[in-house]
Amino acid sequence: MEEKHYVIVGSGVAAVHAAKAIRDHDGEASISIYGEESNLPYNRIKLSKGLFTDLHSDKVLIKKEKWYLENRIKVQSGTSITDIDPDKRVATTGDGQNVPYYKLLLCTGAANRKLNMDGASLRNVHNIRDMTDADKLKSELQSGNRICIIGGGVQGVETAWSFIEAGYHVTIVEAAPRLMSRQLDEQASTLLTQRIIGLGADVRLGQGVKCIRGTDSVQGVELEDSTILPCEHVVYSIGIIPNTDLARKASIHVQSGILVNENMETSTAHVYAAGDAAEYLGKVEGLWGGAIEQGKIAGTNMTGTPVAYQRSVPVTLFNAFETPLFSIGMVDEEQCDNSLTHLVGELYTRIFIKDDSIVGVISFEGAAASLSYKTAIEQRITLDGIDLAHSTIKEIIGEVMKRSQK
Ligand SMILES: Cc1cc2nc3c(=O)[nH]c(=O)nc-3n(C[C@H](O)[C@H](O)[C@H](O)COP(=O)(O)OP(=O)(O)OC[C@H]3O[C@@H](n4cnc5c(N)ncnc54)[C@H](O)[C@@H]3O)c2cc1C
Repeated sequence: MEEKHYVIVGSGVAAVHAAKAIRDHDGEASISIYGEESNLPYNRIKLSKGLFTDLHSDKVLIKKEKWYLENRIKVQSGTSITDIDPDKRVATTGDGQNVPYYKLLLCTGAANRKLNMDGASLRNVHNIRDMTDADKLKSELQSGNRICIIGGGVQGVETAWSFIEAGYHVTIVEAAPRLMSRQLDEQASTLLTQRIIGLGADVRLGQGVKCIRGTDSVQGVELEDSTILPCEHVVYSIGIIPNTDLARKASIHVQSGILVNENMETSTAHVYAAGDAAEYLGKVEGLWGGAIEQGKIAGTNMTGTPVAYQRSVPVTLFNAFETPLFSIGMVDEEQCDNSLTHLVGELYTRIFIKDDSIVGVISFEGAAASLSYKTAIEQRITLDGIDLAHSTIKEIIGEVMKRSQK
């Protein structure tokens, strides 16, 4: 019998976890990961959180080379897949090799949304998606440079902190009225902004950028109110666009991302998708944890063991500007029945309640404290019978945890 060949396109975290799941269920088959980047799969998150650490160290790899050898997973780095023929079950590499597959998984990830304004193509306008972007940015920085960060989401704020720690002057520009508006409510965002300013960054809120000024290289950023912020570099972080070209070319159904069902199957037989490239129930998750889980589910299904993907509660663990915090689940007060806030000094916690259970939390505590809240939210443990008006959040979560163990 011909050997089964599982082919994974893309070499990010979804690919690694899919390959592991395939190997866990099938000890014999051959597994190949094709990645256009030259590195072994690495922890992409480090590109912002650890921008000035040694990004080429083995510590940044998701798995060391030995693991791939032991598990007989072939990583074809520096090799892109440019075409798929689902009828013949063949993928074609950039240098024209035809690779037959038994099952194919698209883990092509996403690209950063590009900035579209005058000056966006000037030298020293950066965005960070891969190792090459990070290396290029660092090689172009000079001591004393001023950096303008466009986009005050999690990635923008964490990148800003990396620059501040490395001694650069930073301004964060955010068009929305507050930073990290998807994860934080107004009070939490204000507290964080105060700390950011206290640690030396400049923050401009509610101001879009009109254009980037300069002739050859960046000289400044002009805001909508015509304020000019002089700077030598711009780093923008304004969202992602899933990499779907390969799927589209093969007539696989695509909307924002490659459409998948709960088994991570695409519209085309024997072809699956997972991670930032995939869209499930109208949503591209764009998160590290989701990519891991989808990769696992895809790999398992590819071996013929049916398992359904269940989207987990979104968790953001943030630790920058000397401020650990987390935001879990639904934190939009308009979609909740009620919420409770607790502020002692600068330690802010707010829980969001709907249908008698906790559906979201924002807290300026470390990651370890997030676990109880995550359990409470995932298990939708009822608050019925708890005197919310006369209990602290700590007491409420204590009672909820007791209930979870029953
Ligand atoms: C700087 C930064 C910070 C982040 N911080 C966080 C965070 O704090 N928390 C969080 O949850 N998420 C974070 N993310 C998002 C997270 O990294 C992604 O959700 C995750 O990496 C998605 O994994 P993936 O395997 O789907 O795709 P990717 O990691 O994008 O990997 C896809 C790979 O496929 C390759 N590829 C694409 N097309 C082809 C092709 N045709 N042939 C061969 N190879 C191809 C790409 O080059 C890439 O290497 C961050 C992302 C960035 C860039």
